[in-house]
Amino acid sequence: MNFELTEEQRMWRSAVHDFVAKEVKPKAHEVDQNAQFNWEATRKMGPLGLLGLNVEEEYGGAGVDAISAAIAIEELGWGCGSTALSIAAHNGLGCAPITLFGNEAQKRRFLPGVTSGKEKLAALALTEPGAGSDLKKGVLTKAILDGDSWVINGTKMWCTNASIAEFVVTLVRTDPDGGSKSLSLIVIPTQTEGVRIGPPEKKMGVKGSPTHAMNFENVRVPAENLLGQAGEGLYQTLVVLDGGRVGIGALSVGLAQAAMEEALQYARERETFGVPIAQHQAIQWMLADAATEIQAARWLVYHAAWLKSQGLPFTKEASMAKLFATEMAERVTRNAIQIHGGYGYSVEFPVERHYRDARLMTIGEGTSEIQRLIIARHLIEQTG
Ligand SMILES: Cc1cc2nc3c(=O)[nH]c(=O)nc-3n(C[C@H](O)[C@H](O)[C@H](O)COP(=O)(O)OP(=O)(O)OC[C@H]3O[C@@H](n4cnc5c(N)ncnc54)[C@H](O)[C@@H]3O)c2cc1C
Repeated sequence: MNFELTEEQRMWRSAVHDFVAKEVKPKAHEVDQNAQFNWEATRKMGPLGLLGLNVEEEYGGAGVDAISAAIAIEELGWGCGSTALSIAAHNGLGCAPITLFGNEAQKRRFLPGVTSGKEKLAALALTEPGAGSDLKKGVLTKAILDGDSWVINGTKMWCTNASIAEFVVTLVRTDPDGGSKSLSLIVIPTQTEGVRIGPPEKKMGVKGSPTHAMNFENVRVPAENLLGQAGEGLYQTLVVLDGGRVGIGALSVGLAQAAMEEALQYARERETFGVPIAQHQAIQWMLADAATEIQAARWLVYHAAWLKSQGLPFTKEASMAKLFATEMAERVTRNAIQIHGGYGYSVEFPVERHYRDARLMTIGEGTSEIQRLIIARHLIEQTG
C-alpha cells in the first residue's frame, strides 16, 4: 500500500474538515446535553456526499473510495461523536446492505431519498433482547412468506437511527429450522403498519445519536424487499459489519484526535509549580503516547480501507483496526481528562464528552472480545 493519501483524498479531507468545523463541532455540546440529533447539519450533508459515501452516483451517492469514506467518518468523529455515529450507521449499516446486495430496483427505490438529506436516514437492526454477539442462534424475529408479502413479528434492540430512519434493514429468521442459512435481510420502511419504535434509550454517551428498541407486529412488506436470496442474511450481515468496523475505527481515531487537541491546548495554558503543565514530563508522556497511538490506529484503519477498496479480503484487518482504534480512543480520552485535572471531569470541557462517547466504540458493531475471536480465528486458519 502507498501510505501517501492522494491529492483527491487530501482535498476531500480538507472539505469535510471545514464543513465539520463549521456545522458539526460547534453544536456537539448542545447535541450531547439535549440528546438531540443534529438534523440541521445532516440536511447539508446530502449535497456534500456524506450521506452516500459508498453509494454510486446514479443512486444519489458520492461513491467515494473506502479510504475517503473512512476519512469522512474520522472527521465527523473529530467534530461530534453522536453525529458521527449516526452518519456512520446510516452509511455503513443502513445503506451498505442495499449497495452490496440490493438489485437495481431496490437501489432505485431506497437509496436516492436517504442520500439526499431531504428525507430521513437508514438503519440496520440486528440485535435483539437475547442476541447481540451470537446472531446465528439468537435471532428470534421471524418473517413468513404469505402470498407476495413477508409477515414479520419480533423485537429488535439498540437500533441506531430507528426514529430518524426512512427504513430499517432487518435481520430475520426466514427458515424456522435454524442454522446459518435460515437468516435473511429484509428492508422494512418505518412507516409500515405494525412497526413500533420505542422511546430513545437513555445512554452514557453518544446521546445525540438516537437508539431505540423496535417491535414488529404482523408487519407486512412486499416480497421484493428481501435483499438477495432467503438464507443469505448471516453472510450478508458479516460482510456489512466488516465495512462498518472500519467506520467505527475511523470514528474512534477522530474522537481521540479531538481529545488530544484539547489536552495539548490545555497543557500549554495551565500552569503549576511556575511552569505550564506541558513542561512536566508526566504530561508530555501522555501526549506523546496519544499522538503515537492515534497515528498507529489511523494507519490500521486506512490499511483495512485500502484492502477493501482493492477488493481484497479485509475481515481480519477490519477487526484489528476496530479493536486497536477503539481501545486506543478509550486510553487517549481517559488521559485527556487526566491532563485537565478536575476540569476534565466537568461537562463544561469537551474531554468529558469524548470519554463517554468513546466508551461505546469497544461494544457496538462487535465487541473487542468478538474482534479478538475473529483475528485469532484467521491466524489459526492461516497457519493451520
Ligand atoms: C449505543 C448503541 C448503538 C447500537 N446500535 C446498533 C445498531 O444500529 N444495530 C444493531 O443491530 N445493534 C446495535 N447495537 C448493539 C450492539 O451491536 C451490541 O450491543 C453488541 O454487538 C454486543 O451485543 P450484546 O449487547 O448482546 O452483548 P453480548 O453478546 O450479550 O455480550 C456480553 C459480553 O460477553 C462477551 N462475549 C460474548 N460472546 C463471547 C465469546 N464468544 N467470547 C468472549 N466473550 C464473549 C461480549 O464481548 C460482552 O463483553 C448498539 C448498541 C449500543 C449500545
